[in-house]
Amino acid sequence: MLHCPIVKRLVVAVDGPSGAGKGTVARAVARALGYRHIDTGAMYRAVAWRARQTGVALEATGDVAIVAAGASFELGDGVIAIDGHDVTAAIRTPDMDKAAALVARNAAVRDVLVTRQRALGAGGGVVMEGRDIGTVVFPEAELKIYLDASPEERARRRAADPAHASSRTSDVAHVAQDLAARDKSDSTRSVAPLAQAADAVYIDTTGVPVEAVVARVLALVHEKAGAA
Ligand code: C5P
Repeated sequence: MLHCPIVKRLVVAVDGPSGAGKGTVARAVARALGYRHIDTGAMYRAVAWRARQTGVALEATGDVAIVAAGASFELGDGVIAIDGHDVTAAIRTPDMDKAAALVARNAAVRDVLVTRQRALGAGGGVVMEGRDIGTVVFPEAELKIYLDASPEERARRRAADPAHASSRTSDVAHVAQDLAARDKSDSTRSVAPLAQAADAVYIDTTGVPVEAVVARVLALVHEKAGAA
């Protein structure tokens, strides 16, 4: 894909459920624009990993928030580290899916991570993906995308994703069950539930090639940047 710099550096918020293609699309859009890609889900996952590793129970909400507040993150291109530990592969297991969803219900952890995410996006020029980017982290984002896909397609994609390699994730029926449980947890929690912002552009990616979704988002970015 051609690198096409644009003058105004926007905040592009990409939200949606697990397996909707947020990571693939956000990464490709950021690369095409010369923007930074920030995967906020990886931050929740890394905090869960670090809490476990340091013997902090995930149910101990105050202690987990202390882990989050003291953590240093490296959010490089495809590499995630917390407090100097490369956790890129370790955080993409079915067990960590559940641990991250639990940590994400912790309001004190969210406060800490949302503050950091706002700082990371402060200068614009970012594509930030998550569940609450357009609703809570950057309600003023110039462009908000809500990516979705059918539950069956999301489960198929997740099962085929090498980043989520593990014995269980090759089993589509199990993946579908896990995704449904996580969707429920993410969309019914009391703090910052997964929701489409009123001004977000809804894109159903079911059966749509990733290149077409990326092209649509890039066209929207250019429209917004031109209008600004
Ligand atoms: O996107 P990913 O599946 O890696 O996110 C892991 C978990 O982190 C999600 O299930 C969700 O509970 C949580 N999350 C969140 N808010 C975000 C990003 C992720 O609550 N902005």
